[in-house]
Amino acid sequence: AQQIQLMDGLQVNRSLTRIAHEILERNRTLSQLVLAGILTRGWVLADRLADKLAEIEKEQRPHAFALDVRPFRDDLEHLSFQQATLHSTPETVIQDKKVVLVDDVLFTGRTVRAALDALMTKGRAQQVQLAVLVDRGHRELPIRPDFVGKNLPTSLDERISVKLQEVDGEDGIWLAKP
Ligand code: 5GP
Ligand code: MG
Repeated sequence: AQQIQLMDGLQVNRSLTRIAHEILERNRTLSQLVLAGILTRGWVLADRLADKLAEIEKEQRPHAFALDVRPFRDDLEHLSFQQATLHSTPETVIQDKKVVLVDDVLFTGRTVRAALDALMTKGRAQQVQLAVLVDRGHRELPIRPDFVGKNLPTSLDERISVKLQEVDGEDGIWLAKP
């Protein structure tokens, strides 16, 4: 398959910094905020965003936790099983908090729908927002992101390859043509 680089590590980092600023613009204070990263790479991104938010605000780091949505998928058989949990997922109180869901790629929206179900089992958030590094289009559900690193319109048979240092040893985004 042909691989075309769309973003390098510097660009990924800039996008995340901008998203952190946008999250602050929208929410003003960190104290009410919790980040929920969808395993695997959404969790890595949530962890990085928590660092950036604390750094920008010179405030206490917002709580970030990993969300395993696999038990909530409606189409498990289509899912290539991701790596086992990298970090433990503490049961976190999201009650009355503003939760920012974080994932690497938004496609049909079914993972986000499942993530909302997973969140509901942990409490009643005051509000849920969605941050994704890449929106590749092709939604099958009425879901839209609040914060987007980059809109990358794809055809259905293309794949976006997102690599992150913590999992893949390098940062970058590639388009994989079939
Ligand atoms: P959806 O559930 O919205 O169809 O797909 C989103 C989930 O599948 C995300 O968790 C994402 O990691 C993965 N995914 C879907 N399409 C792609 C893609 O083109 N590249 C990557 N890296 N992940 C994708
Ligand atoms: Mg994923």
